[in-house]
Amino acid sequence: LQTSENKRRQFVSDASHELKTPLASIKLLTDSILQNDVDMPTVREFVGDIGREADRLNTMSQKLLSLSRVESQQDGDCEIIYLSPTLQRVARMLRGIAEKSQVSIELDLKNDSPVLFLEDDLYQIAFNLAENGIKYNVPGGKLSISLSREEDNAIIRFSDTGVGIPEDAVAHVFERFYRVDKARSRNSGGSGLGLAIVRNLVERNQGRIHVESAVGQGSVFTVTFPVFDMEEE
Ligand code: ADP
Repeated sequence: LQTSENKRRQFVSDASHELKTPLASIKLLTDSILQNDVDMPTVREFVGDIGREADRLNTMSQKLLSLSRVESQQDGDCEIIYLSPTLQRVARMLRGIAEKSQVSIELDLKNDSPVLFLEDDLYQIAFNLAENGIKYNVPGGKLSISLSREEDNAIIRFSDTGVGIPEDAVAHVFERFYRVDKARSRNSGGSGLGLAIVRNLVERNQGRIHVESAVGQGSVFTVTFPVFDMEEE
């Protein structure tokens, strides 16, 4: 009980801290507009910044809600699904952002397998991992999503040619609010919650997640789920 109470306190304190930063920026920007004799182009620029901070608060509160839902929800409607249609849908949704960032998306989904999954969880997992593979990439880079099968396991790999993760940070990326490069993450609307959500979703679907990365070369996030054996089960 003591441990879980400490964790809860830490979470509330981390969450308040993260929410305070954009609020402080909004306050500073509105004060500057009201107090100083600022010209119209500067006002527009500040208002634009306020809008971006509000978007960030919005994304963060949605992710916090989603995280607490994942943590409290014990079960739901499981269904037997193949992995590739969801991965194709994610790639379609992210094509626009990828093009803007000059990152190409490559799919290799031949080795598809059926898995038993909670509705929508697979989409959220794949979306977060693929989005990161684009966000933390470089112009001209690539994100590959591939499927393979090893014995009774279905494996999805999200492999990017991006900035990579320093060795000492790899162990922390699944922690809530952890960001390697705060400025880069903030510019791309990051909250440090995406991978914490992904790990929870993976684990509640009996899966495992693992990352390997090299700075300047890229990262590979590997997610493994038990295959649903149609004949046996
Ligand atoms: P964020 O909202 O900041 O992207 P995440 O929880 O999704 O939060 O990721 C945590 C941190 O891990 C990111 O801020 C980033 O520093 C690092 N990271 C995640 N995915 C990748 C990736 N594919 N390549 C490089 N760094 C990554």
